[in-house]
Amino acid sequence: MTENYLKLQFYSLPRNQAFARDAVAAFCLELEPSLSAISDIKTAVSEAVTNCTVHAYKGATGLITVECKIEENSLHIKISDEGKGIDDVEQAVQPFFTSAPSDERSGMGFTIMQTFMDEFKVDSEKGKGTVVYMTKSFKTEVENA
Ligand code: ATP
Ligand code: MG
Repeated sequence: MTENYLKLQFYSLPRNQAFARDAVAAFCLELEPSLSAISDIKTAVSEAVTNCTVHAYKGATGLITVECKIEENSLHIKISDEGKGIDDVEQAVQPFFTSAPSDERSGMGFTIMQTFMDEFKVDSEKGKGTVVYMTKSFKTEVENA
């Protein structure tokens, strides 16, 4: 398997969320993912992109960048914004933590990303933006047998 790379940049409009998630799903097809792996990836990308729209840029429009890299049997995803950043990342990734309970957010987005993907990391700087890194690893045919 040769390396492959994709970079997408789009406005933080809610309607771009489906586009981003489907683009990443289409990009990873060369790894022959199972339906459940595709579903995990789409859900994780949706959660990360939604966070950029509702938290990072809250009411304003900014740019979201999604980068994907296929390396060996893994899909690496990097989702970045240049929005408001996160005060306390350790707290933000806890299940049920939300800074927007009045918007009926459940605080489960990061937990879903962490659960559905094999690797997960968040870097954020207040006033500068946030980067979410996620990896999904696919088994080789020999391991699957
Ligand atoms: P849910 O995802 O269940 O609708 P939520 O978005 O509040 O609720 P998480 O996705 O887990 O929950 O995010 C936790 C918190 O981290 C958010 O409430 C927000 O304060 C902060 N956060 C997440 N992503 C970003 C981001 N890209 N920029 C700024 N803050 C963020
Ligand atoms: Mg969320």
